[in-house]
Amino acid sequence: MSDKVIRLRAAWVVGYQAGDHCLYANGEVVYQGDRILFVGHDYSGAVDEDNHLGNSVLAPGFIDLDALGDLDTTVLAFDNQPGWKTGRIVAQDWQRRDLYSREQLNFAKHYAYGQLLLNGITSFAPITSILYRAWAEEVDEYLYAADVVEELGARAWLGPAFMAGYYASDTLGQFHYINNRDRARQGLEDAVRFYERLNARGVPRLSGMLAPDRIEGGDDAWLHELGAVVKSLSCPTRLHCCQSELEVREIARRYQGRTSLEVLAQYGLLNAQMLLPHGQFLGGVAGDVSEDIARLADSGATLVACPLVSGRHGKYLEHYKSIRAAGINLALGTDTWPSDMFTNMQMGVVLTRVVTGDVQAASAADYYRMATLGGAKALGREDLGRLAPGCQADMIVISLDQPALGQIFDPITALVLNGNGRDVQTVIVAGKTVVRDRELVNSRYSVAELHQQSQQVFNHIISTYPERTVGHPPVSEIVKPAFNIVTREEP
Ligand SMILES: [Zn+2]
Repeated sequence: MSDKVIRLRAAWVVGYQAGDHCLYANGEVVYQGDRILFVGHDYSGAVDEDNHLGNSVLAPGFIDLDALGDLDTTVLAFDNQPGWKTGRIVAQDWQRRDLYSREQLNFAKHYAYGQLLLNGITSFAPITSILYRAWAEEVDEYLYAADVVEELGARAWLGPAFMAGYYASDTLGQFHYINNRDRARQGLEDAVRFYERLNARGVPRLSGMLAPDRIEGGDDAWLHELGAVVKSLSCPTRLHCCQSELEVREIARRYQGRTSLEVLAQYGLLNAQMLLPHGQFLGGVAGDVSEDIARLADSGATLVACPLVSGRHGKYLEHYKSIRAAGINLALGTDTWPSDMFTNMQMGVVLTRVVTGDVQAASAADYYRMATLGGAKALGREDLGRLAPGCQADMIVISLDQPALGQIFDPITALVLNGNGRDVQTVIVAGKTVVRDRELVNSRYSVAELHQQSQQVFNHIISTYPERTVGHPPVSEIVKPAFNIVTREEP
């Protein structure tokens, strides 16, 4: 039996024409199975089902290339700085071990991936923190992540995080590089093994990727081996670089003054497969930004901007205008809680205007493209991030009748200015409805259950902070309340 032909009509349909999004007033989308057949006005063929979505925007699902894939703990350091004193850099004397149980890790995947879908993010490449791990993420664990994606009906690029080494802090705040050759080799082998196992499943919504954890953790051998693997698999590869001052300084110290991008290029890691968060420290210690920008532009790599997490850390792409002028592909990542693309688009426009000092440097349309077309280009998937015949039926529905959206003069500007992930009502992936009325259709947990259980897992991980934080202070000194807490005195 062939799939039903379904038509959705909405006050606004975000279509695609001449290489860019367009807006169909009172438009329609017709799809069958996972494919879009028609976008526009007055479809002339027969349909089996006709749905009127009323005063709504029907739009492509978002693409998130640094998607929050666990419980976010960066929020703990928001007002508890410097981060090295509050657990963002592990203590040099910490004996690394897994601080989460496998059950907790499994739950976190249900929770985080569910949240991404609820926020209208239909394609995601999740990232999890390895601050709480003995070392890398494991193959079995990621096979379970793939199960969760399958269960929820999402579309994802998956790969366990792995590293060659990391920086740890002593009590004076001096950072020391610690690496482990055996574990580095094992992590790379596991990443390839996972990639092959995932491909063997043959599920179109699931793709393999490589997720090496940050450039500064790499040693020569690892970067060299990684370059060879990226070349042979030729799959999307996410590598954090140009992210922090520590990184830029350490890369320059270890590589004769070179910039992070120069080092990537040297190891064959600067090409169209690369997804590079966060791109906010270009030019290395010498500060020659123009060479780094030319390097990026020539490579075809994608810069993954994560405005919310960057802004919270007081940093954003100062060179946004030069990056755009050079034609470098830009995509977005949520990276932190909330996994909300609307907030990231709004924050992205605002931060760009502030850091460039130019109110015209970025528009709502620019950031909307980054959240859709930019991500699709990075993944080499012209059938995602847009609604056009032949594309995947990955769509979200947002009602414009919600009072919090204010007055509408243009639906996209309204969503970027006033929208929120909580406004997404329906989510369709590959033609199947996966979120209906803000509930996950296929999840074994309700949204309320996910919320309740997430607090328990979060409380657990906070309780482990003294063990891995420099000087091992009690939790009360690591995570301080905004104001003094006054409790009732018991008689
Ligand atoms: Zn990141």
